[in-house]
Amino acid sequence: MDFKRLRERMVERQIVARGITDAGVIAAMRRVPRHLFVPKDMAARAYEDCPVPIGAGQTISQPYMVALMTQCLHLNKSKRVLEVGTGSGYQAAVLAELSKEVYTIERIEELLLRARQTLHHLRYTNIKTFIGDGNLGVEDEDILFDAMMVTAASRRQPDRLFAQLAPDGRMVVPMGDRFSQSLMVFTKKKDRITEESVCSCTFVPLIGEYGWPLN
Ligand code: SAM
Repeated sequence: MDFKRLRERMVERQIVARGITDAGVIAAMRRVPRHLFVPKDMAARAYEDCPVPIGAGQTISQPYMVALMTQCLHLNKSKRVLEVGTGSGYQAAVLAELSKEVYTIERIEELLLRARQTLHHLRYTNIKTFIGDGNLGVEDEDILFDAMMVTAASRRQPDRLFAQLAPDGRMVVPMGDRFSQSLMVFTKKKDRITEESVCSCTFVPLIGEYGWPLN
């Protein structure tokens, strides 16, 4: 299967044609081999215009949503990013192409171990992977992130994460009810947090404090 060609077509039809304009994001989506982040029997479907199952009841997000959420963060090579919900590791790889370093947290060990292996195989050296509850942010309380992305649906504003967001930092998070959310972008100003709703979306649930209990 010609994955490079499928990737090119994905970028042209799903990313550029739908209005993603950030040249860095477009280039990163061209570079990262998405088919290596899904289980082998899903590789042929990796470039489809939809989320794809990755095991443990979870999904790799639709390519357009990956590009849109990344574009919302206004990244550059000086920025440190936190991702909650590593899943396959694909989004972390796209973030790593565009920033100085990426911390990513996943609650399901099986997924985290597979993502870690894929990222190692592809020689990403600026990604730190953690197993744990992303609602809590990272354990090192002194660390601040210039950008944050939550890749699971949140029920309310994740205030603990705001505490680890640097001044002028941006956070993108799907927020709403279980089956329908708004993609929200929060920006931390000196004395307040501004918010903007980008589009509607549907994500798997964030488990825990800002999302839903595990069944
Ligand atoms: N970013 C991923 C990728 O590129 O494949 C897709 C993420 S998937 C849509 C959402 C992920 O969030 C799932 O892997 C799920 O296990 C994880 N998740 C849900 N609640 C979490 C929590 N409290 N802490 C960390 N990860 C969580």
